[in-house]
Amino acid sequence: MKMKKYIYTLSLLFSFLAAPAQTNIAQLYIAPFRHDAEGAYTLIHDDFGAAYARGIEEYIDTMNFNRNLPICFAAITGECDPEDWTKAKEMIGHGHQILNHSMTHKCGQVQSWCTFGNWNEKDFPTEIDKSTALILKNTGKHPAFFVFPFDLFTDTMLTYLEAKKYIGARAGKQNTLNSPVLSDPFLTNFTVFRPGEPLSALNDMADKAIQSKSWAVRVMHGIEDESWAHITQAEYATHLDYLQVKVKENKLWMATLSDVVTYQYNKEAAVLKVVEQNKDSLPTKISVELKNIKLPSGDMMSHDTLTIVLKQKTVPKTISQSQLYIPFEIRDDKVIFDINLPVNEIVLTY
Ligand SMILES: [Zn+2]
Repeated sequence: MKMKKYIYTLSLLFSFLAAPAQTNIAQLYIAPFRHDAEGAYTLIHDDFGAAYARGIEEYIDTMNFNRNLPICFAAITGECDPEDWTKAKEMIGHGHQILNHSMTHKCGQVQSWCTFGNWNEKDFPTEIDKSTALILKNTGKHPAFFVFPFDLFTDTMLTYLEAKKYIGARAGKQNTLNSPVLSDPFLTNFTVFRPGEPLSALNDMADKAIQSKSWAVRVMHGIEDESWAHITQAEYATHLDYLQVKVKENKLWMATLSDVVTYQYNKEAAVLKVVEQNKDSLPTKISVELKNIKLPSGDMMSHDTLTIVLKQKTVPKTISQSQLYIPFEIRDDKVIFDINLPVNEIVLTY
């Protein structure tokens, strides 16, 4: 039995070696990040609603929207007045994502340096539930991510959030980038911009994400206001202009937390197969099957898309999904296109 298996393996090997060289054979894979960008970057602005962080609504929203860059903003819900809620809805309409930053912005762990009062299990109904309900009532969106004031939290808080249909939190390692591959979204790593830090640290982190093909989550506060580690409008514009260039060069994917995590889940679940090829061994039909993987119970609040990469020199005439043409891009001998999930088949013509 063993011998037979051995011979079979050997014959397979020989048939492979004996096959004529087929230079057209395509490499097919799911891009690590959307649009096959090399790195991903999420910008989070904390303390929306607080009087000292008005720069988020006064400048940050528009400055990003004008550059087509989506950001996350973390709301202290107990500080939001009706005008803030109107603004929050407008920001969501601009493609930005609202995060829950608790009701009263207290310390989730007793620390000598944190002197704003503490919160624990007995405060969950206020700091988590009421805060969630306020966001849902005023914006129509159940927040998908929770970010802790002063980044102080306990494991009990994470377990509670998961039970309350959150899909993630900012509770991973600090000053650490994230892998493009799905890991626990409750332990998302992040890097906080601190007072006195050189401004070059902002662009540098985007560069690091690109160089190491990773996902950077950058935390900032306001601009032109009294928030912690605030910077000027001009300084902020310099950073956004840099990000915009990197996005246009297809080096960087600027996305919300939900965008990246949704993409990671889809990538984890999807299996690509070439179902049919033409006489030149070019794929004419590709299937995308979705494996059953454990998905979060909450609404991920993002689009179900995946970027497919076909590495081949021949450019297709058309690519379609459900008889609708899909736009595609040619970059470095790669055919790159986005599909909407679920999909049965992708059809290519030459
Ligand atoms: Zn804060």
